Amino acid sequence: MSSVIAAKPVATTADETPKIVGGEITAPSQEIDGFQLVIDALKLNGIDTIFGLPGIPITDLTRKLQAAGLRVISFRHEQNAGYAASIAGFMSQKPGICLTVSAPGFMNGLAALANATTNCFPMILISGSSEREIVDLQQGDYEEMDQLAIARPHAKAAFRVLHAEDIGVGVARAIRAALSGRPGGVYLDFPAKLFPQTIDAEAGRQSLIKVVDPAPRQIPAPDAVQRALDLLKGAKRPLIILGKGAAYAQADADIRALVERTGIPYLPMSMAKGLLPDTHEQSASAARSYVLPEADVVMLIGARLNWLLSQGKGKTWGGKSAKHWGGQKFVQIDISPQEADSNVRIDAPVVGDIGSCVAAMLGAMGSKWPKPPAEWLGAIAERKTKNVAKMGESLAQNPTPMNFHSALNVVRDIVKANPDAILVNEGANALDFTRSIVDMYKPRKRLDVGTWGVMGIGMGFSVAAAVVSGEQVIAIEGDSAFGFSGMECETICRYNLPVCVVILNNNGVYRGDEVNPTGGRDPSPLVFVKGARYEMLMQAFGGVGVLARTPDELRKAMEEAIRSRRPTLINAVIDEKAGTESGRITSLNPAAKKKP
Ligand code: ADP
Repeated sequence: MSSVIAAKPVATTADETPKIVGGEITAPSQEIDGFQLVIDALKLNGIDTIFGLPGIPITDLTRKLQAAGLRVISFRHEQNAGYAASIAGFMSQKPGICLTVSAPGFMNGLAALANATTNCFPMILISGSSEREIVDLQQGDYEEMDQLAIARPHAKAAFRVLHAEDIGVGVARAIRAALSGRPGGVYLDFPAKLFPQTIDAEAGRQSLIKVVDPAPRQIPAPDAVQRALDLLKGAKRPLIILGKGAAYAQADADIRALVERTGIPYLPMSMAKGLLPDTHEQSASAARSYVLPEADVVMLIGARLNWLLSQGKGKTWGGKSAKHWGGQKFVQIDISPQEADSNVRIDAPVVGDIGSCVAAMLGAMGSKWPKPPAEWLGAIAERKTKNVAKMGESLAQNPTPMNFHSALNVVRDIVKANPDAILVNEGANALDFTRSIVDMYKPRKRLDVGTWGVMGIGMGFSVAAAVVSGEQVIAIEGDSAFGFSGMECETICRYNLPVCVVILNNNGVYRGDEVNPTGGRDPSPLVFVKGARYEMLMQAFGGVGVLARTPDELRKAMEEAIRSRRPTLINAVIDEKAGTESGRITSLNPAAKKKP
C-alpha cells in the first residue's frame, strides 16, 4: 500500500515548497491527506451541503468541509440530521449526506438510514469509526462497534474505506448506489485512521471519480408499454394512483399530461399530493373509499401496493375479506423489476424510470384516446360533491377549544395563499386530518412520515426543506410527534431558517384525557403535562413563540411568521378530547381493536 500514517500533523493542501536535500533541490513534496480527499471527492460530485453532528473522529472534517465552502448544518441529534439528509435527497435527486461520529452517533443516524432505504430516498450516512484491528478482536476500543456489519441490512449498500487512495472509489460507489435504479440509503464507513493518511497529491487527485450518469435512464420495453395501454384502453372504471416515486422522478409535466390526456381519475398518495393540484377536477381524493373497490383497472405510478394501499386486496378494494382480492387488474410503473407481484398479480408491469415510462406511454397513446365512460366519472363526481360538502360543514364549525378541523381550516387557507411553502407533517390525527384537509398545489411540497409512518421526522425535514429550497416551511405537528425532534428548534434558530412550526396540542398521544385506571400517582402513559407551553422553546433560542387558542390567533401568527420569515413556533391549543386512537389506522392497533 502506498498510504502511510502521518507521523506528524499534515497540511491538508499540497506542500509546494521546493526542498534542499543533501545539497540538491528536490521536486516539491506534494502530499494530500484523507480529510482533503473526502472533501474533494464530495465537491467533485456536486455535494454542497452536509447534515451532521461533530465529534470524534469527524470534528475536524466538519471544520474543513466548512472551510472548503460546503454548507455544514450541525444538528443536536444525529437522527434528525439523518432525516434531514434523506429528505434533501428526495427533494434534490442528489444523495443527502449525513455525517456522524462512531457507535452511538452512528446508531442514531441508522434509524434515518433505514427509513431512507424503506422510502427509496437517496442518502449516504458517513460515520467515523474506531480502529478496525481493535474492533475486530473486540479488545475494547473507544466506541467500539462493527458499524459496517450493523448498517448492511438497513442500507441498499454499505462500504468501508481503509486507504486514502480508495476514498474516491468509496464515495463514487456510494453515490451510484444511492441514486441508480431504486434510490436508497447507503452507508460509508470511514475509520478514524483514514483521515490523517497521506498519499502523493497527484495520485490522490487521479484517484477521485466524478460519477458519470449516476441515475441512468431506464427505458421501458415497447411491448410492456403497449400491454399497459391496451389494458387501460379497455377499462370501464380506470384509476391512476400516483406515489412518491412519481414525485421523486421530477417528470411533473409529462405525468400531468398523461393524467389529463387519458382523462382517468387519479388518487395521489400523501407525498404525491400537489403533483397535480389537489383541486384538479380529475382528483378522486374526496371519493377514495368509492374508487378503490369500484375501479376495474388501476395504474400505479411510483407507488407500492404496501400497507398504505391495503396490499391491493381486502375490503378497501372490494374483496370479501382481508385476504380476498377485489378483482382489479393492475398496471405498475416502477424502476424496480422486482416490485411487481409483491402482493397481488400485476397484469402489466412497466419497468423503467418514471420519466421514460410516462414519455413512452404518451408517445404510444396516439391522438385519439377514449375518455373513461361518463357513468364512472359521474359517479365519482357525485361522491366528491357529497363528501366535499360534508367536509365543508366540519370546517365551518368554530368550537371552543379548537378542534383539528377548525385549526386546520386556517392552515388550509394559509397554504392556498402560499403554494410554494413546503408543508412538513407528522403525528397521528395531526397527520391524517392535515392530509385530508390541506390541499397542495405544487409537486414535492408535502413531506411527511412516509412508508413507515415514522414519528420524529418533523424538525429534521423542516431544516432540510428550508436549506435545500430556501422556501418558507410550515410544519404541522402533533404534540407527541414534535417531542421526538423538538430540540432542533435551536438548530432552526441558529441557522435563522424560515420555519413556522404549528403544534396541534391536545396534551397527549392521540388525545390528552386518559387517566391512570388504578388511580395511582403516575399519569397515563398516553398523556403529557397539561397546558405545556411549547412556544417558549422557540423563544428560548431567540425565535418567536405564540400561544394560539382560536383560529383567529392561529391565522394571525401564521401570517406574521410567513411575512417575517422568522423561526416561529405556534402552540395551537385544541380540545384534549379531540382525536382518535392511532388516527386512521386504528385497525393496526390490537388494543384499540378490542375496545367496544
Ligand atoms: P407511496 O408511499 O407514495 O405509495 P412508495 O414509496 O410505496 O410510494 O413507492 C415508490 C415507488 O417508486 C418505489 O417502488 C420505487 O421503486 C419507485 N421509484 C422511485 N423512483 C423512481 C423512478 N425515478 N422511476 C420509477 N420508479 C421509481
